[in-house]
Amino acid sequence: MVVEVISVGTELLLGNIVNTNAQYLAGQCAQLGLSMYHQTTIGDNESRLSEALTQALDRSDVVILTGGLGPTEDDLTKETCAKVMGLKLVEDAHTKQRIEEYFKNNIYSCITDNNWKQASVPEGALVLDNDNGTAPGLIIEKEGKHVILLPGPPMELIPLFSKQVVPYLKKLQPEVIRSQMVKICGKGESLVETQIRDLIDAQTNPTIATYAKTGEVHLRITARAGSEDEAKALIKPVVKEIKNRFGDDVYTVKEEETLEMAVVRLLQKYDLTVTTAESCTGGLLSGRIINVPGASEVFKEGFVTYSNKAKRKTLDVSKSTLKKYGAVSAQTAKEMATGGVFATDADTCIAVTGLAGPEGEEEKPVGLVYIACYMKDKVKVEEYHFKGNREKIREQSVVKALDLLRRSILANYKD
Ligand code: ATP
Repeated sequence: MVVEVISVGTELLLGNIVNTNAQYLAGQCAQLGLSMYHQTTIGDNESRLSEALTQALDRSDVVILTGGLGPTEDDLTKETCAKVMGLKLVEDAHTKQRIEEYFKNNIYSCITDNNWKQASVPEGALVLDNDNGTAPGLIIEKEGKHVILLPGPPMELIPLFSKQVVPYLKKLQPEVIRSQMVKICGKGESLVETQIRDLIDAQTNPTIATYAKTGEVHLRITARAGSEDEAKALIKPVVKEIKNRFGDDVYTVKEEETLEMAVVRLLQKYDLTVTTAESCTGGLLSGRIINVPGASEVFKEGFVTYSNKAKRKTLDVSKSTLKKYGAVSAQTAKEMATGGVFATDADTCIAVTGLAGPEGEEEKPVGLVYIACYMKDKVKVEEYHFKGNREKIREQSVVKALDLLRRSILANYKD
């Protein structure tokens, strides 16, 4: 079943508002297993909207229109749909009564003549009561096509869609679609793809899609089936095979779990505390960890030691190390991580020092970053040469730091 979205509103075309409705609807339709090949944004203009709807009806089974259902002259979605579909507009007594009640209960606004415009619906349309506004949602069925009209404000559209449109669409397409995420850290997209080339080439149901993120690759395994259990059974062996191939590179198979969440989960699991010692990342690393609910159980302290003086004073990095090797060096990273543990009595400390640019140093290019992790009296240091601007280098450093911490925990504590 093919669905498409037409977002109506000149505000959208002018960039005054972001089209979050299209994003929401696309995500929801994907979850329902509907195929979406087109999304259109049209201003408040009758002839262009007619043209867009005619084209959409020609190529899709379901067309969802959002916006332009208000009471004013420029709200013309419903009128245009009725015209294109050859339907008359008729007054809907139930909607009229709801509009009266809405205004009775809303002391800040009063009913005006143009509000009654919202009580008229294309003949035969299914009316979806809107509990958060006056414009009802509408479903029009004609000649095997389904046109769904929803009000523009997201706080009206989302409840209408989730409570009333989702059950309707589920009936149209009883087949279920389920997907499972596998998140990989520490390998680039092309390497990941090469390792599963055979699985990708053989895919029919389930399918495997790869998504490259900063320092991570996400794989979405999606199956279509007659029931939830059948879909899960199709996905399970593929996920198992991917986990076998990537081992500890897989940090989670949960859609909602981020890398920092996986790190916090491991720290909690092994009852460990962590301290961060940051130079070029300036608190980004500690920020990501502290963003995770439950971080207070595992996070000891975060140091931003940007200057040499701070590295010496707070983390006890030796003057001779800084002089001999410089602030951006494996030796300094190592001493930062060690100093972090001793300053706070944490089980582990992850330290980052590097050149995020734009200015490099003699013999030390922009993007050179050292990351160190102290754990069980040993320090592991990694050297990176990141590409990109300052923001990108700092972002990549944080991902690698989280991943080094994660791998160190697994290496030292996993049985
Ligand atoms: P109303 O009854 O409130 O007039 P409507 O269906 O006529 O609703 P519009 O007038 O098109 O909707 O838009 C009303 C408001 O809804 C916009 O000002 C904007 O805040 C929000 N909105 C509209 N379309 C979108 C969209 N595609 N994504 C996000 N917000 C939107």
